[in-house]
Formats: sequence, structure tokens, C-alpha cells
Amino acid sequence: MHVRYSYLPQQFSQIDDLMAQLREFVVTGDFTLGKPLVEFERRFADLIGVRHAIGVGSGTDAIKLPLKALGVGHGDEVITAANTFIATVGAIAELGAVPVFVDCDDTFCMDVSQVEAKITPRTKAIVPVHFTGYMTQMEPLMEIAFRRGLPVVEDACQAILADIGGKRAGTWAEAGSFSLHPLKNLNVWGDGGVVTTNDDGMAARLRLLRNHGMRNRDEIEVLGYNSRLDALQAVVGNWLIGSTHQITDQRIENAEYFDRALGQIKQIRIPPRVSGMKKVYHIYIVFAEDRDGLYKHCQSRGIECKIHYPVPLYLQDGLKIYGHKAGDFPVTDRHTREIISFPCDQHLSRDEQDYVIATVAEYYG
Ligand SMILES: *Cc1c(COP(=O)(O)O)cnc(C)c1O
Repeated sequence: MHVRYSYLPQQFSQIDDLMAQLREFVVTGDFTLGKPLVEFERRFADLIGVRHAIGVGSGTDAIKLPLKALGVGHGDEVITAANTFIATVGAIAELGAVPVFVDCDDTFCMDVSQVEAKITPRTKAIVPVHFTGYMTQMEPLMEIAFRRGLPVVEDACQAILADIGGKRAGTWAEAGSFSLHPLKNLNVWGDGGVVTTNDDGMAARLRLLRNHGMRNRDEIEVLGYNSRLDALQAVVGNWLIGSTHQITDQRIENAEYFDRALGQIKQIRIPPRVSGMKKVYHIYIVFAEDRDGLYKHCQSRGIECKIHYPVPLYLQDGLKIYGHKAGDFPVTDRHTREIISFPCDQHLSRDEQDYVIATVAEYYG
């Protein structure tokens, strides 16, 4: 059996109605900040439960623009997670700011108890990353942020509809950042992102910043960026957004099925499934003994398993300027040796899941 990682061909196989909508849209010429975008932003805000959603060019920009709006700039420090995807760090670095890493724990999110020790007079913001669809412990983090007077931007790119005690990712802080990249749970046909906020002033600044800082066609209020979510992508987003709960629920059901079966295998350790937290399994990860052997075995049996990630960000060539060395973030390091990801998406079949489970069991004999 072949178990693919990417489900995009399946996801977009039946789209006659979407093609008809795109055809209708294209003849309006309403490409930039058009009506479908306005509709998508309203529906996204309603989905998350916030006052404002602002469509931007990518998930990276959905982190960068609120940081810019908060005044983060050259030489400032921004605290974030050591095990994140490069986009988080890229957004910080684009502003000339310096990422200050905090190690993660076995939920793949930053260990909040280590945050305060990283705060210096140059710290300007904190960007927790709700990595894999778990959430960072936001209650203690927001307490620290409030006490130290630091704004927070949640990197919720992997965590749409995740929550703690019913309070969703993207609603806890000054702003929340989402990605609509094809590989994300709610996706479009290219790059796109959304910033959520309950702050009217922040929303207004973001609307300026994403559109060259233009107050109107003749007046520039601030220096901004060209970072709008295309109205064309918003048509795709509007077609899909109604399915977000269904997509999420199916991923959770698949993850629970894997947990029950893989949890029976002695050499597999299921990460702590923190209660009171809704995890949305953008990535389904378990810890495995002899991970490299299991990885090779699964690949040889046609299963596209992955490692998120084999080389931690802080040791990558492109980040040498920050001067980190191996061992600086021991939990992140340990994860690079122990973690393995299996497909867990809404299009995965029970047969495919059973094949993955049987293949893992077969490896450990
Ligand atoms: C996808 C992602 C982003 C944003 O990536 P884009 O490709 O710019 O949309 C940011 N942070 C994390 C953790 C991500 O997974």
C-alpha cells in the first residue's frame, strides 16, 4: 500500500462549483481587496470568535505585520520557540529583530517556565508557537507578559480551532497569526495568511500596513508592505471555510485512533495529551525507539512518514549569526532523534491508518 503525506489531489478533486464561482469572480475584476476578501475576513473572524480578521500575503506576514504594528524593529529581541518552523524566525528577522529561543517540552510548545529568564531590557514581544496543533500554556504566559508589560503575538499557523478551556488559539493576545498555505489545515491555492485581533486600533494599523501604508489612493500614512490576501484566494477560502470544523474533527478522530493502537506498542511513546486542551493535529507526532530504523522501514513499505524536524532551526546554516551551538536546547535536540510524523489528515482512510499501525508493529516485531 502507498500512504501519501499530501492529500491535496484528493482535497481538490471535486470542484465544479468552485470553478463556477471563480469564473464569476474573474469577470468582476475585483482582484485587490475585493468583495470575496471582505466576506472571507468576516467568516474567519466569526470562526475564531474575534472582532477582526485581516487577510495578508502569507502566514509569515501574519506574524511580521502585527509585530511591526507593535513597534518591533531593528535590534529588538523577540522571544519564541526553539523548535518552530523557519517562518516564525523569518518574520522576526525581516524586521531586523533578533529571535531569542526558548526550549520546548514534550507537547512541542515552548516551556513557559523558561520564558522569564530570557527577558532582557531589549525584549519587545513574545511569539509563542502552537506547534503541531498543540497550544502553548497561554494562561501562565499571558500572566508573565502582563506583569512584564510585553505584547504577545500567537503563532497559530498550525493551530486553527485549537483551544484551552474553550478559548481558541488566536484570541488570547494582541494578535493571532494564521497561515492558509496549501499544507495547513484550512488552505488555499498558494500563499495566504490571516491576522486575528480584538483590538480595533491594531486592526486599523494592520489594514494600513498590508496595503503600502496607504490611507487612500492619494495619501500614505506610514511605510508599509505589499501583503494582501488575494481576493482570488479568498474565493477558494470561502469555498472551504465552512468545512473547517469537520476537517478538524476528522483529524482529531484519526489521531485518537492512532493513539489507541500505537500506544499499545512498547517502543512508541504517545506525547502527553494535556486535558482541557483541544489539539488539532496539524502534525501527528509520536516518540519512537530506534526512530531512524522505523523511519526507513515505513518508507520502504510505502508510508510517507516525516520528521518535523531532523535538524533544529537554531543549528541551521542560515541562523549561524545568532551564535548557538549544539546542546543549547536539549529537549528540541532530543526530539530531533525521537520524533516521527505520520499522515493524519481528513482524507486518510481507516485502511491506511491500519496499514501504518501494522507496519510500525511489524518493525518492532
Ligand atoms: C506555516 C507556518 C508559518 C507561516 O508560513 P507561511 O508559509 O508563510 O504561510 C509560520 N509558523 C509556523 C509554525 C508554520 O507552520
